[in-house]
Parts: sequence; C-alpha cells; structure tokens
Amino acid sequence: MSDTGTKPVKKYPAIHLQAGRQRRVMHGHPWVYSNEVQMDNTAKAVPPGSPVRLLDPGGTPLGIYTFNPHTLIAARHLSGDPATVVDHAFIAGRLRRAVELRDRLFSRPFYRVVHAEADGLPGLIVDRFDDVVTVQANSVFMDRRIDDILAAIDEVMAPRAVILRNDSTQRALEGLTEETRLAKGEIDGPIRLEENGVTFFANPLDGQKTGWFYDQRDNRAFIASLAKGGRAIDFFSYNGGFGIQCAVAGATQVIAVDRSALALENATRAAEANGVADRFEARKADAFQELERLNAAGETFQVVVADPPAFVKSKKDLAVGCRAYRKMARLAAKITAPGGYLLCGSCSHNVDPPTFAEQVARGLTDAGRSGRILRSAGAGPDHPVHPHLPESAYLKAIVLQLD
Ligand code: SAH
Repeated sequence: MSDTGTKPVKKYPAIHLQAGRQRRVMHGHPWVYSNEVQMDNTAKAVPPGSPVRLLDPGGTPLGIYTFNPHTLIAARHLSGDPATVVDHAFIAGRLRRAVELRDRLFSRPFYRVVHAEADGLPGLIVDRFDDVVTVQANSVFMDRRIDDILAAIDEVMAPRAVILRNDSTQRALEGLTEETRLAKGEIDGPIRLEENGVTFFANPLDGQKTGWFYDQRDNRAFIASLAKGGRAIDFFSYNGGFGIQCAVAGATQVIAVDRSALALENATRAAEANGVADRFEARKADAFQELERLNAAGETFQVVVADPPAFVKSKKDLAVGCRAYRKMARLAAKITAPGGYLLCGSCSHNVDPPTFAEQVARGLTDAGRSGRILRSAGAGPDHPVHPHLPESAYLKAIVLQLD
C-alpha cells in the first residue's frame, strides 16, 4: 500500500461484488460486468464515470475502479491500492509512465502514447505526432475527466495542438455522443509524421480514426524489407503506410489503391517528401474491383498488400466478413508473382487470429496457390495488450511467400 501521508483517504462509494462472482476479478481481469455487482441503491446512485471502491462479497477491498451503473462493463480497474486518490496527479502519473515506455521503444516522438487498459487508463487512446496529439475518450470516466487529461498531456508532452477525436462507435455503448474538435492550438492542413524513418502526412482532424495507424509499424518494416527490385501494390492504402515504405526500400514501382481522394493526396505527398514520386502511383478505385481488373489483365506483383478496414464490425457480421477476407486473399494471391510476397491484414477485433488465418489459407487454395507463412503478427509495442484482455489484440497481419 502506498504512503498516503497526511492526506485524508478519500471515501469513494463502496460497490460490492455478488457472492460467487469474484473469481475473474481476483485473477486480475480489469472489468466487472453489471450482473456481477450488487446493484443496490448506492450503486444505482453513483454518477456514471465516478471512482468507486470495489469490495468482494466478504467486504475485503479489491481496489479502486471507475463505475457506470448503466453499461454492460460496469466497473473498470484503476488501482489495486484502495487508498488511491483519482485526481489530476494520478492521471498525469499514468501518462508519464506511458510516455517513458514509448521513448524507450522509439527514438522519435511518433507513436501511440496510451492504449487504454494496457496503460492503466481504461478507455483512453492517445496518439502522438511529435507536437500534435490526438485523444479519444471511449469511457464515461475518461470523458468526464477530459480537462484533467488535457492538463496532464500539456504537463508531460507540451504539444502545440491537441485534437479530440471522440467519434468512435465505442462511445455510444457508454452513452456518450460523438464530437471532433480542436482542444488546443491550430491545425493548418496535413501534419507530418515519421515511421521507420519514412515521412508521412495525416489529417488528424478529418482523416480516419486518429489520423494514422501506428499499429502496423513493424509489419510495414517487414514487408518493405522484401520489396526491393520488384513491383508492389498496396490495397486499402490509406495515407500510403505500406506502399511508400516499399518504395523507399527499393521497389521499382508502387501503386496505392484507395477510394479516398484525401488519403491518396497524403500518400502522394509522402512519395514526394521521400523522393520516390517517380516510382509511385495513386489509384483511386474500389479495391475489390481493381483486384478483379488486375486479375483479368493477368498483372502480377512481387509484393501485394491488402490491409482493409474492419470487415466484421459486430459479431453478427462474422460470416459475411469472413467471406470477404477469404475473397480478398484469393484475389490478392492471384496477382502475387511466383516467389512473391503477400500480406493480408485485419483489424476486426471480432475475428480471432486462427479464424483470420483460416480465411487467408482458404483464399490461397481458392486461388490455386501454395506457399508458406513468414510472419504472423499483431500490433507493435506501442499498442500493448492487457494480460487479461487478450481479445483486445485486434490486429492481425499474415505475410506469406507464394510459389
Ligand atoms: N492499410 C492502411 C489502413 C487501412 S484503413 C494503413 O496501413 O494505414 C482503410 C482504408 O481503406 C481507408 O483509407 C478507406 O478509404 C479504404 N477503403 C475502404 N473501403 C475501400 C474499398 N472498397 N476500396 C478501396 N478503398 C477502401
């Protein structure tokens, strides 16, 4: 237990687990579901997003949790120390720890700073583009504490601009509305970022998610290492993350395919900034139509990347989404040159790694191709995973060499 000095211990409301419902929590799981707590009058009266003291059915304190009596995930773990005061200093401390970890992992200040539960800040996402920071509050607690979070970000990173990207679908589950706004400073056009030594551009105010997908960093480096001397094509390219890294690594020609003009503008800018514009083409098209067209034309590439948006946004879409992954793998495999490399990605958290691997394998068979998996990976270490939430490891990337 930490030394609380002369500070009085703040008495947060006491929430009791129901008898027989303590096992998972005692084993370290950070969430308590609403049917596991005693929803007595105290519990029902807790304003959503307040810290509470969680007690086991026998009255033993389990720690400090955030609480929302109206959501399925009723309580989220904040601290095992029942004396913890959840104030500005608490949030700043967690943020400082998260930044220190990233600064050890990466030499440049371009990374995901906070990855929710795994960084001890349940529901909070923070991305950093040097002196521009984007924030997403996906729990009521984080939403209510946004001023403390912004103050902590100023204290720890002193950015020139901060953007609130509160437009995720998760917010609706917590009864929160969507909003995107500038919380500090100004943003004038796309911002610059670096990944694996390559320059990119992103629009954190109106691009996808928080502007950039740092999660694929290591997978981009891997596929780029295979791209030298051949043609590469990057489907669902967004701002060019995979494709431009292939070009910089020595691909003879790179085509980025996306249906978003804004994304392709950023990719083209990146090609220019990295001196590979003469080997880069942005192609505005539907990825599946372009895959069919290239198949019909009999074109092949040394490297094919297909890293789409989530095809399975909710569990009910699983069968349809899996068929889409399988089709994507089939079409992408068919345009991969013999001896070439194929990367299939998925960011659907509803599709577990074995299920995704199965769709990719079936797609290969459908295409009449054989090969070998060289890499089967998830997100980089700036997207850490809470040990008791393995299902939060949503990203999958499979790299194969095809015969
Ligand atoms: N591979 C990207 C991330 C993909 S995000 C990266 O490494 O950063 C999803 C992208 O797919 C978005 O840019 C979106 O515009 C694009 N997209 C979605 N559906 C598409 C379709 N049917 N055809 C082409 N692009 C599509």
